[in-house]
Amino acid sequence: MRPEGEQVDVDKLYLARKASGICIGCGVKQASNGTMRCDKCRKEDNENSAQRHKLLKASGLCGGCLRNKPSLGFKMCTSCRIIKAAAARKRAEKAKEAK
Ligand SMILES: [Zn+2]
Ligand SMILES: [Zn+2]
Repeated sequence: MRPEGEQVDVDKLYLARKASGICIGCGVKQASNGTMRCDKCRKEDNENSAQRHKLLKASGLCGGCLRNKPSLGFKMCTSCRIIKAAAARKRAEKAKEAK
């Protein structure tokens, strides 16, 4: 879990870069047409996610935190499943309130 303050800063940075047409990845290069990232960052991102996927599969670790072992028959560990369930419950409560 991330501290709240950090999340806000990242959002601000993201919005500022997005608004100015600068790559949200490195914040240096101009974003490519119709995207929010430059070519270099997009390429790196693709490589990273492919690498991450490979590592995840090989290690057999939780897909949520990449640290714990998943519970038997699940893709995620107990704590990640609890967090996910809590988030889903919150969403369901919000949906009910909206009605
Ligand atoms: Zn970039
Ligand atoms: Zn986990």
